[in-house]
Amino acid sequence: MHVLVTGGAGFLGSHLCDALLAEGHSVVCADNLLTGRMENLAHLRHESRFVFLEQDVSQPFDPGKVDYIFHFASPASPVDYLKHAIETLQVGSLGSLNCLELAKNYGAKFLLASTSECYGDPLEHPQKETYWGHVNPIGPRSVYDESKRFAEAATMAYHRHRRVDTRIVRIFNTYGPRLQINDGRVISNFMKQALRGEELTVYGDGSQTRSFCYVSDEVAGILALSKSDEHGPTNIGNPVEFTILECAQAVLEVTGSSSKLRFEPLPQDDPRQRRPDIGKAKRLLGWEPTIDLRSGLRLSLDYFKAAVQAR
Ligand code: UDP
Repeated sequence: MHVLVTGGAGFLGSHLCDALLAEGHSVVCADNLLTGRMENLAHLRHESRFVFLEQDVSQPFDPGKVDYIFHFASPASPVDYLKHAIETLQVGSLGSLNCLELAKNYGAKFLLASTSECYGDPLEHPQKETYWGHVNPIGPRSVYDESKRFAEAATMAYHRHRRVDTRIVRIFNTYGPRLQINDGRVISNFMKQALRGEELTVYGDGSQTRSFCYVSDEVAGILALSKSDEHGPTNIGNPVEFTILECAQAVLEVTGSSSKLRFEPLPQDDPRQRRPDIGKAKRLLGWEPTIDLRSGLRLSLDYFKAAVQAR
């Protein structure tokens, strides 16, 4: 198969490119390098089945005939999408419409990378796909939340009205090697701070929760979904929930660091709790994650050590 991955120079997109190449497909990666990095693709330099296209997918573009489109382009960490607010809105709206048009014109299948942010600060816990969410439409995070909600609406509209064969994955907090150490995410910040012997910055009182999925589990779930016939949104994430204080503890243990904690203000609209209900993915795809947080952090340790040293 000939596959287009938008956002393929990003953390998750680059792991997806690797997995698709490993399955024998050829891959075109389109990325404007706003938050993606060529370093994530450096190992593919001599791969004949891989082509990199420096392209803003919010502008109309044509990569040639493809059989499958994985639309992953978007800033994805809160620090990145707050800094690139307009670009985030553009890639979720114009970028998604451009990619859906390509899928329609080439008769390609389409998979949208959506997000647990669609649930906002959720009033239902854990979050099932049937929950419509609790999103502040004008808050600072709305540029990401609402553009992904628009992208989901666009995907379903192309499915219903243009007969595009679509899928939607709702991705929960994912981590692993290639996470950019300055993207402001909790795992990148804590790993970097612990390895430097700096204080770990806990926002609020650290009682808010997240559920962290190791990247190889996430990619396996996405690939399984891509091969299924399920068109409705599907949660792919790890259902084991941690408070941010517990996450800090896990990072300190795995790094062997004696860093202390420093408490800082909680960002506006920071979700109180987040945990996927993965019943649907288990039932439909026979998928569930296999790597727990401490194991995943250990698997990421060498990468973070090297990234901290390189700076
Ligand atoms: N967080 C924190 N310290 C940091 C970075 C993040 O306490 O240095 C918290 C943040 O307030 C949120 C959680 O960790 O409650 C996850 O934040 P992240 O930016 O990784 O992603 P989010 O799940 O909010 O999109």
